[in-house]
Amino acid sequence: MADFDLLVIGGGSGGVACARRAAGYGARAGVIENDRLGGTCVHRGCIPKKLLVYASHFSHDFEDAAGYGWTVGARSFDWSEMVRAKVAELDRLEGIYGRLLDNSGAAVIRGTGRMLDAHTVAVGDETHSAETHRAETIVIATGGRPTMPDIPGIELAVSSDAMFDLPTFPERVVIVGGGYIACEFACIMQGLGAQVTQLYRGELPLRGFDRDLREVLCEEMRKGGVDLRLNVNASSLARAGSAIAVTTTTGEVIEADQVLFATGRTPNVAGLGLESAGIETTPGGAVPVDANSHTGVAGVYAVGDVTDRINLTPVAIHEGRCIAETLYNDNPQTPDHRDVATAVFTTPELGTVGLTEEEARQAFPALDIYKTRFRPLKHTLTGREETVFMKLVVDRASDRVVGCHMVGDGAGEAVQLLGIAVKAGATKAQFDATMAVHPTAAEEFVTMYEPVPETATQAA
Ligand code: FAD
Repeated sequence: MADFDLLVIGGGSGGVACARRAAGYGARAGVIENDRLGGTCVHRGCIPKKLLVYASHFSHDFEDAAGYGWTVGARSFDWSEMVRAKVAELDRLEGIYGRLLDNSGAAVIRGTGRMLDAHTVAVGDETHSAETHRAETIVIATGGRPTMPDIPGIELAVSSDAMFDLPTFPERVVIVGGGYIACEFACIMQGLGAQVTQLYRGELPLRGFDRDLREVLCEEMRKGGVDLRLNVNASSLARAGSAIAVTTTTGEVIEADQVLFATGRTPNVAGLGLESAGIETTPGGAVPVDANSHTGVAGVYAVGDVTDRINLTPVAIHEGRCIAETLYNDNPQTPDHRDVATAVFTTPELGTVGLTEEEARQAFPALDIYKTRFRPLKHTLTGREETVFMKLVVDRASDRVVGCHMVGDGAGEAVQLLGIAVKAGATKAQFDATMAVHPTAAEEFVTMYEPVPETATQAA
């Protein structure tokens, strides 16, 4: 007989959520984890990142305070104190994860899991397997890790994993990449006082996001002080005394104290024994799954970043819980990957839910686009040049709001709530009928009455 009903490999966002929910319904559940409970989100992702974002905002706040009559004295930032406080908080969160699992009745098994077949997992260290466990159902939730390009001198650079615990704060940073992690770190490091150069090989950062958002964010990041350079990449790195010399594809040499490559992530499947379970990865190295996170091999599921669907914590959690609901609560649930709201914690923030204008143009014959860009009330006194941008994408035939997009302070908070309206299929008429909360920036989402003229929209 199997010793577990459900055995999850990987104790990150998706794995812990799945095991806890299953154990809560009485399943004999276990989680195998070879590092720290909580995974990427808690230790190398969302949480430490957001703490650094908060830290980085103080420099702007100190500057803005003058516009409101404040005199702020000498300022200095102590990176090691910030790291110490962050480490203490992450330790606390890890403890909470452990207790939540214990309280749910799920077992925590320490070590690296390797599948021997579709129902058996060996757990050990890198070189040997100390024990084997059998389970009716196995859930692969091993997440992903950063990848680095194979260019000369790459060993001098770090990935996002190392950025959270740099031994010293770098004065000059080169960040390579144009995804959300690269953009967020560019703003974090800039806000904390570093001189930041960001190199991205594409024409605009944040591929896949609404084009207007990408253009506006690019402008705002540059206004904020990030030297964001497009259509250029790093071709090699070399030591230059105590600094690192980054040679770009245009032949320029930029000196930096730290170089971050945030150029991609790959699913954690190495050594997992997928072949023993009869699972072949996708060309991108992910575990292929159907809409219910099932791999096609009886009894084996996969959730979260290892499946490379939408690589976000709440998505991994939801996917994990759906499996537990379906198998142990007689409540079949299929995760819905449409209209997932998400934020990019740059300065200013970016928030988005639903379809980009480009996607909506493929999906619907006619759209109405509403846009606004303005200086927020707060900055009328600070003099800061920062603007807020908002955009609604509306399917003309049904009047449904199919996309909400924002760049500006609080964009993440705003789209979390707008996400409910979009998910519920709210129409533009219902947005218009909603009273504004005044004075806020978000009120503009319910007071944009005139669509952008057709020709201007299509040119955008
Ligand atoms: P993970 O959280 O990565 O967990 C996988 C776990 O499996 C790890 O603990 C790992 O140690 C363990 N493991 C791997 N292999 C084995 C094995 N063979 N045996 C045992 N254990 C194993 N998402 C957001 O929603 N919002 C954000 O703001 C955000 N910011 C991010 C910032 C950064 C810098 C990064 C890198 C990611 C960010 N993410 C964010 C993404 C988010 O962290 C991931 O989508 C989420 O953590 C995925 O959860 P998961 O359960 O799939 O994997």
